[in-house]
Amino acid sequence: MAIYLDSAATTCPGEACISAMTDMLRTHYGNPSSLHSFGLDAQLIVEGARKQIAAVFGCEPGTVIFTSGATESNHIAILGAAHAYGRRKRRIVTSAVEHASVRGACELLEAEGYEVIRIEPGADGVMDPAAFAAAVNDDTCLVTMMLVNNETGHVMPVQKAFAQIKREHPDVITHCDAVQGFMKYPVSPEKLFADLVTVSGHKVHACKGIGALYRKKGVRLANLMKGGEQEGGLRPGTESVPLIAGFGAAVGALRGTIAQRAEYVTGLRAECIRQLSAFDDVTINSPDNGSPYILSFSVKGRKSETMLHFLSEKGIYVSSGSACSKGKQSGVLESFGIHPDLADSTLRVSFCSENKPEDITALCEALREARERLVRKR
Ligand code: PMP
Repeated sequence: MAIYLDSAATTCPGEACISAMTDMLRTHYGNPSSLHSFGLDAQLIVEGARKQIAAVFGCEPGTVIFTSGATESNHIAILGAAHAYGRRKRRIVTSAVEHASVRGACELLEAEGYEVIRIEPGADGVMDPAAFAAAVNDDTCLVTMMLVNNETGHVMPVQKAFAQIKREHPDVITHCDAVQGFMKYPVSPEKLFADLVTVSGHKVHACKGIGALYRKKGVRLANLMKGGEQEGGLRPGTESVPLIAGFGAAVGALRGTIAQRAEYVTGLRAECIRQLSAFDDVTINSPDNGSPYILSFSVKGRKSETMLHFLSEKGIYVSSGSACSKGKQSGVLESFGIHPDLADSTLRVSFCSENKPEDITALCEALREARERLVRKR
């Protein structure tokens, strides 16, 4: 039996998603843009799913745009906002610990001549919202900060930073990559003072290839693509009704259980920390007040990849640092104050409410064996 402890990389599709998708594939395969009633049925399904996502955000359904996932949402938001507002204002402020898709979008803008300011967390690994807000000036068109870091689970001070920015520079567009917080915390764009919010389906028990972008009413985004008028013209192309319906159903199924699931995984994470504390060579990298869904730790003298493969052979699946970087170091751990030597020895364990306490025990037993059997790195 596989032990899956990598839910920050992707989650297992839930029953609600699978049955909604199967139904769409079998029966409701119309094109939502078609004028006949078969197309209209498909359109109603898309609008139903949009309402499900909007209900979680506490926003109007018309502010939710379906995309192919968070990478695309981040690009539509960041490039679209910079191109719409950055004709005269050419500065973008971001954190130094963003996901590769936000970093990448900012690099594309940098290559176009925008100035990108990357704010590092303090020496204690904590991002100071006032320091972030202080980097915003009259030349700034856009700021972007993630809600929960995918490598460590640090919860970023989005609300405080964005509130100050909106007070001091109301014209600046605020974007938040909320992928690792969505359906784990109540995510309200309004309370976050965010004009744009990115989320992904496959992190919340829906399928890969679907995500959404919240866009506050009135916020302009330049189109990255031209084609049909789907999704307000921002994401033209025939909508994937099965993926959208599955996303809506997955979100609907999780909506009432945010608090219970958080409490449950908080227990799992605490148990994992308790068992790991018996190892004298393990350092916990995640902060105590981080997301209960993510635990990053380093095993001194062992290479992440070697440990990961050892665990994998035992059917225990975890990540080294961040799964998205495929073993490539992103520099994010160092930004959070983790020594480069330990960063190279880091594993990320991430939970969902399907995990059992026995999974934690099996992981820690396998780690104990790995430390005895594997050679130390030089
Ligand atoms: N942002 C964050 C914080 C993430 O963790 C991820 C996925 N690892 C993404 C963006 C990209 O998501 P997607 O796979 O849906 O493109």
